[in-house]
Amino acid sequence: MSEDVLIRKRALPDLLAIGEGAPRRFGHVIGGRWHAPADAAYGTTIDPSSGREVACFPRGTAADIDAAVRNAEQGYRRWYALQPKQRSQILTEVARLLRARREPLARLETIDTGKPLAVSLADVETCARYFEYFAGSADKIFGEVIPASNDHLVYTLREPYGVTGHIIPWNGPLTQAGRGIAPALAAGNSAVVKPDENTCATTLELAWICLEAGMPEGVLNVVTGDGPGTGQALVDHPLVRKIAFTGSVATGKLVMKRAADRVCPVTAELGGKSPFIVMDDADLDEAARLAVKAFVYNSGQICSAGTRLLVQDNVAQAFVDRVVACLRNVSVGPGIENRDMGPVISQAQLDRILGYMDIGLTEGAQLAYGGRRLMEGDLKNGFFMAPTLFCGVDNSMRIAREEIFGPVGCVIPFRTLDDAVAIANDSDFGLAAAVFTRDVGQAHEAARRLEAGQVYINDFMPIGVEAPFGGYKMSGIGREKGVESIWHYTQLKTVSLRTRSA
Ligand code: NAD
Repeated sequence: MSEDVLIRKRALPDLLAIGEGAPRRFGHVIGGRWHAPADAAYGTTIDPSSGREVACFPRGTAADIDAAVRNAEQGYRRWYALQPKQRSQILTEVARLLRARREPLARLETIDTGKPLAVSLADVETCARYFEYFAGSADKIFGEVIPASNDHLVYTLREPYGVTGHIIPWNGPLTQAGRGIAPALAAGNSAVVKPDENTCATTLELAWICLEAGMPEGVLNVVTGDGPGTGQALVDHPLVRKIAFTGSVATGKLVMKRAADRVCPVTAELGGKSPFIVMDDADLDEAARLAVKAFVYNSGQICSAGTRLLVQDNVAQAFVDRVVACLRNVSVGPGIENRDMGPVISQAQLDRILGYMDIGLTEGAQLAYGGRRLMEGDLKNGFFMAPTLFCGVDNSMRIAREEIFGPVGCVIPFRTLDDAVAIANDSDFGLAAAVFTRDVGQAHEAARRLEAGQVYINDFMPIGVEAPFGGYKMSGIGREKGVESIWHYTQLKTVSLRTRSA
């Protein structure tokens, strides 16, 4: 057995054993092997359900990024030299291996993020589905023949950029990684990925799975570390030809400005403050049930979370009563116990959310439910926030305008559909929106007028990997998911051949 295979085999049990015993040190995955620089500083990741330290990962330096990008350059040449159908087969195998390891991967994701186990299992499946879906695209990246002249054959080629850089947040480590990496690799690029410093484990494991699936060394490289140190070095590296960034608006702007200095294209998937409109003819029980899902799922740490609950004023109280009844049934507990809701990611995030409780009350909103940290019993060392509902909210309040990124909904009453659309669109963000009504015409009118990258009618977040996803306004640039996202990982070349002499 070659040394490489041994290194890979040894790697697997280590990551999957995170959470058992004392925290152990890991490295980056560069060029198909562990890369642990001798003089590296390490950061510690914490299980947000218990506050316990679970693993140590290097804080990548510019030198680590450089090593990863140079390996990715080599990886790109090996990868793009394969036949499209070979790339497709390897990506399909990645999906199979992800599914085969769904239980240990979900456990790892839950330890890192605090997600209920069922959510992590769904995330593993979503990641597998990205690889499966984009595996099918690898041999369907067509160019066109352009009827430009009778004396020329003019056609286009969609070519990969080369090395793509991916920066991902902590709220969906596996799903965000799969969402960007799978189409990038399907299009023939190689990738360097920087996961969030709080949640590195499953992204590293994904790199090992890709190797096991037969992906050449250097095609997928993972460098751990923080934003200003590691992420920025990735954005600045001259051989990174395309950046896919997912995170906050503030960081997204920084990344875009730095990338602009070297005219590097950026796809930006940023934040949201999504309106969830309830008309008075809606099925209120169903709307209330889905509203709770919209702002409580993943402890509200979802970019597209439906956090502004716009309710027609004549049914506002009836709707609030129903939402509060649903919230009373939300069980909160450690991710591994698989209750309805786990903790938020960190003490800092919890403090930020609690800060918004004070802001909301000072602004004049009323707490209809929750509003506090949960510390009873086995919750005392974790970062648990009660699901929370504010009433009497005006759209000018900070709790209605700023992304809280916690399980907090704000009820904003309105009178007519025109008012609802105006309030919904009065936001810097434009990621998702929902409208609940039995009137089909009204639903489509709202969908047409809402400034959002995706609109759900009588539902929330139902769409899979097949439909394009992205933001209007400050929620981002470009689209992930669906065939559309492939175009963001290719550049277009026009070829013109003279077929007849003048
Ligand atoms: P963040 O912007 O703080 O961090 C995101 C990533 O960027 C992390 O990996 C971080 O280390 C890195 N980073 C930080 N500073 C950097 C810098 N100067 N240069 C390069 N990289 C840097 O975001 P967060 O708080 O971790 O994540 C939550 C945010 O992500 C929310 O705003 C949420 O809405 C957004 N998000 C958006 C989507 C989407 O698809 N639109 C999906 C998930 C999360």
